Amino acid sequence: MGIIDTHAHLTCDELYSQADEILERAKASGVKRILCICLNVKEAQRAFSLKERYDWIDIAAGYHPNDLYDLSEHDFQEMEQLVADERIIAVGEIGLDYHWDDVDKETQKQAFIRQINLANAIQKPILIHMRDATKDTLDLCRQYKQVPGILHCFSGSLETALEAIKMGFYISFGGPLTFKNARGLPQVVAQLPLDRIMIETDCPYLTPHPYRGQRNEPMYIVHTMQKMAEITNQSEAELQEQCKRNYETLFHISL
Ligand SMILES: [Zn+2]
Repeated sequence: MGIIDTHAHLTCDELYSQADEILERAKASGVKRILCICLNVKEAQRAFSLKERYDWIDIAAGYHPNDLYDLSEHDFQEMEQLVADERIIAVGEIGLDYHWDDVDKETQKQAFIRQINLANAIQKPILIHMRDATKDTLDLCRQYKQVPGILHCFSGSLETALEAIKMGFYISFGGPLTFKNARGLPQVVAQLPLDRIMIETDCPYLTPHPYRGQRNEPMYIVHTMQKMAEITNQSEAELQEQCKRNYETLFHISL
């Protein structure tokens, strides 16, 4: 038994230099598996090297919508080659982010479609970043997506979550679930089918209560797990077992 962190940026500059200590602390606090999200080829190379020492790390890679402003055709081809590697189990995080306007919507959509098609071609799940862009994100998924996936760090409505589940998504919740101003999020979780939920840290961001404001890392996921167990009326052991089954089902692996 143990907790799976389905979204951690272990190889970002901020965490990578202390990755060994961070992974030791994660293990000591009950984390058994971490899906490491890499936003470029450099981060993926770092993850490959970590995985040689820590075989309980899984790896995903893809271009984040906020990172698209200086990407060339060559960069996309490099990513296409990279995600075909058997050590990469998912394409992401990809998606749309209209909160920041550094990258125009059309560029974001084109890159999103291209990476959805890539995931279809290699039959790997997609991990979705969706911020202030619910309608366009779900519309493009409906139009192009042929693989299942995860909506990461979900903060939307029950209606959106149920719609996404119908389209083959799992819904993953992070630190904001524990915030005092989590608003309707706990009620959303309470009404979702348990076989479609996951949890994550999104570290180094979005540290759960009571560590909110500090740098996040996988060990803090225990607070999100506790909160989710409370909301769903499950014991933590039951919930961990359920989340493990969900992860195994999505990625066709046995833990
Ligand atoms: Zn992320």
